[in-house]
This record gives sequence, C-alpha cells and structure tokens, in this order.
Amino acid sequence: MKNVVFKFGGASIKDADAIKNVASIVLQQQPKLVVVSAIAKTTNAFENLVNQHIKSESISEQLKKIHHFHSEIINSLFDGEENEATENLNKIIQYCEQYLAHNKETDYDEVYDQIIPAGELLSSKILGSYLQSLNVNLTWLDARKILRTNNRFRKAEPKIDESKTNLNSSCNENSIHLIQGFIGGTDQNLMTTIGREGSDYSAALFASFLDADELVVWKDVDGVLNADPRYFNDPELIPSLNYKEAIELSYYGATIIHPKTIQPLAQKNIPLSVRSFQNTDNKGTTINNSGKIAPSTSIYIYKPNQLLITLESEDLSFFGEDKMQQIYHHLFEHKLEVNLVQNSAVNCSICVDNDPQKTESLIESLSSDYKLLYNEHLELLTVRQYQEQLLEGLIQKKEIVIEQKTRSTVKLLLKSKTA
Ligand code: ASP
Ligand code: MG
Repeated sequence: MKNVVFKFGGASIKDADAIKNVASIVLQQQPKLVVVSAIAKTTNAFENLVNQHIKSESISEQLKKIHHFHSEIINSLFDGEENEATENLNKIIQYCEQYLAHNKETDYDEVYDQIIPAGELLSSKILGSYLQSLNVNLTWLDARKILRTNNRFRKAEPKIDESKTNLNSSCNENSIHLIQGFIGGTDQNLMTTIGREGSDYSAALFASFLDADELVVWKDVDGVLNADPRYFNDPELIPSLNYKEAIELSYYGATIIHPKTIQPLAQKNIPLSVRSFQNTDNKGTTINNSGKIAPSTSIYIYKPNQLLITLESEDLSFFGEDKMQQIYHHLFEHKLEVNLVQNSAVNCSICVDNDPQKTESLIESLSSDYKLLYNEHLELLTVRQYQEQLLEGLIQKKEIVIEQKTRSTVKLLLKSKTA
C-alpha cells in the first residue's frame, strides 16, 4: 500500500459506472486510505428530508426516493444478486425512519446531524461491498468513532489528538482502508457534520494524521481551473499552486476545495493533487510549498445566491469596534461566514450565502438592535490578478452594488438588471 490518501466526492460515485471507475482507480493505485462523500445529490436529498420532518410533513415519499436511488445503484453493481449492501441500505433507511418518528429534539442542527451522515454511511457501505466483491483486502472504518468532534452541530470542530490516535490505531499494514468524509461523532456518541463540502477537510486531516506522502482529491474537472466551468467559458488549468494561494482561492469561494483543507497539509508539507477521475493520465494540479501561478493568469470566483444585510444603528450612533464585535458574534453563533463587509460611520453591510435556515434567525436576532435592510439574489464575483480592461465585459447587464479593489483582487457584488 502506498502511504497516500484518496478522496472521492459525490460526482465521482454518482452511479454504478462511476463507482466501478473509482474501484478501478483504487485497485490500480493501492492507496492506504480512501475517503468518500455521499453519492451525488444525496446530502441535499437528506436535507430535504430533515426539512420536511421539521415542518411536520410526511417524510415517507422522500425516504422511499432515497432508498430507491441507492437500491438501483446496488442492483446494477451486483447484477441484482443478494448483497450485504442491500442489507446495509435497509438498516440505514430504517434508522432514519425510526429516529425521526421518535425524535423530540427541537434543535435543527442537532436533528440534521443525526440524519445527514446517512449519505456517507450509504456510499461507503456500497463502495466497500463492491471493492470486497473484487477481492480487495479492505477495512471499512467508521468516521463517527474516529473523527471525534465537539457538539457544535453542522459545524463540528474535530479533536485533533484523539482523532489522530484513533485513526492510526485502526489502520493496519496490509489493507486498503475506506472511511467517510464530512462526518464525525461526539463523546456522547451523537453524530456530527463539519460543514457542507467538508469531506476534503476530513481527507486532509486524515492525511496529516497518517503523515501521508500525498492527498489526491479526484474531481470531475482536470484540476484547479482559473474559472468555474459552470459559469465561464474555456477555463484554463492551473498546473501548480502554493498553499497560500490555494487557501486564498478557496476562501474567496472557489468551490474546487474546501477552505479548511489546506492548513493541515501545509503544516506537514503534504502535497495536494487535484486530478480528474475521468482522465486519470492527466497530472492535474499540484498544490505544495513551492508551486506558483503564472503571474498573467486571472482567476475568477463566482458565488451566486448572496444576501446583503445592511445594518444601521437606530440612534445614528457610530459603528465602532464594539458593534462590529457584537455583529461578528451573531454571525459566528449562526454559523455563517462573511463573504464581504463594508462599513460607514453609521451603517455596516454584510454579505453572506443566502441559506434561509441560518439567515432568517440571524436577521431576527440582529433586528432587535439595528434597523435592517436586505437585498437578495445577488452574485459575488471575485477576480484575483484582475486586468482592468477585462472587468467591463464581466459585468454586462449587471448593476454593481458594492465594489472593493486592492492591487491584486477585485470583489464585485452584482445584481442582475433584469431581476
Ligand atoms: N456530502 C457532503 C456535502 O454534500 C460532504 C461533501 O460532499 O464533502 O456537503
Ligand atoms: Mg461534495
């Protein structure tokens, strides 16, 4: 086994063929540890389930849908033969049904974390059974017992030393190990999640615990691109980046890697490769200490669905450090990250991802102290190493709500003129 960690996201295991492809990469390359996310769209499907439960709606259709989706994949992987994966699927779905039927907990985040990890448990059980059917010597690990966290549900913080010991004592010399990303467990054996798209971060922690030689994140793109192909034409591949630049990019919202992924790797100088699971001969992007972006490459980061909240003090009192501290405290309590902030003497505007589950209660708690205005359906475009003459072309038909420029970076909060 090579002392490397592989992470496969939801898109890489989206159906039976994709899972077979992942299995062939694993068979060929023999990594020590494989980290998986839930199968594509499953986390959203479980989120819908939790939301229905919270609204006291019936969950049975949604649960059936999730069951059916996974069951089809299992059937096609095992040609309809009886399999352990089916048994595990039934158990996990039954657990969700039972938990929600008896649940009295009202804290949304806690309920969420007792259901959402089912996605990763399902995908890892299915991939695990499939690898075993190919005679891979596989050890399936339970991240709930390995990645111990505090009980800050939906944004749980891993306990590093304990988790490191747990992982190292669960790994053996001769097998490939398979574990779930994104999920963990508390000392009271409640399940936790570490933030959406967090399995990159789990993988980085595991790589650092194992002193791995490399972490490879397998993606449906060729590597880190200078723009998101969902929103921009003809993006270019960036062959190498250093840790600092990679942190900056992910912090500004480049969705290619979770912002927390880099730090545990940088601390141990473990290189991160971002590679395509479709074009496995390509080298992709390497992120390490020395990589550099060509100075002429502009990088475009686009975040749709932004909410701008403008706060004004009721009595025209000054927006000093005390108020800012209080506002940031509210944001932290609501587990929201600030994407852009702009102050004047008597007001402050904050831009966050518009997740109503969090923003509605944030607005409620801020409105007792401030006069609030808000603006929805905004888009945040950040351009690193921008070229002034190209900006005009990017903002056609858009109104600039806020513009912030430094020498290297421009942030534009935009509103469609047609909206
Ligand atoms: N399955 C989780 C999500 O969709 C975690 C991940 O994909 O990294 O957010
Ligand atoms: Mg994902």
